[in-house]
Amino acid sequence: MTKLEPKKFIRLCSVCGKSIKVTVYKDGHYRNGHYFNRISLPIKGTGQYKKIGTTQLSKMVVDVVKWTGKERKVEYWECNKCYEEALHENWLEETLERLFGKRCKDYVKGCACCDAWHMYDIIVECLHEVKRQK
Ligand SMILES: [Zn+2]
Ligand SMILES: [Zn+2]
Repeated sequence: MTKLEPKKFIRLCSVCGKSIKVTVYKDGHYRNGHYFNRISLPIKGTGQYKKIGTTQLSKMVVDVVKWTGKERKVEYWECNKCYEEALHENWLEETLERLFGKRCKDYVKGCACCDAWHMYDIIVECLHEVKRQK
């Protein structure tokens, strides 16, 4: 008989680098931290980016490249705090868009929309500053 005990392990937050104590239960759900996906990172010095074709992105044609060398698979995790802060930024952006509309192309002094987005930039910059100092 195997015991149905939750597994506990430590992961590092991909954003702030703090360790997250994750608890995974047998049915697959987990607590603490937010798991996004496995991402592949190319390992420097083992290969190069090779053009394997082109693709159409709206009106632009962009190169499709493939890494020829070795890859390292890493899990992308975010701690609760980073996750919530990211949500918060989105929330702010969505609220601004609802209230003032999309950001103008160029900043016009005295335009309510531009001023609102200018404030948003400052707030976001402050949030990032706080993160960097931790
Ligand atoms: Zn974090
Ligand atoms: Zn404007």
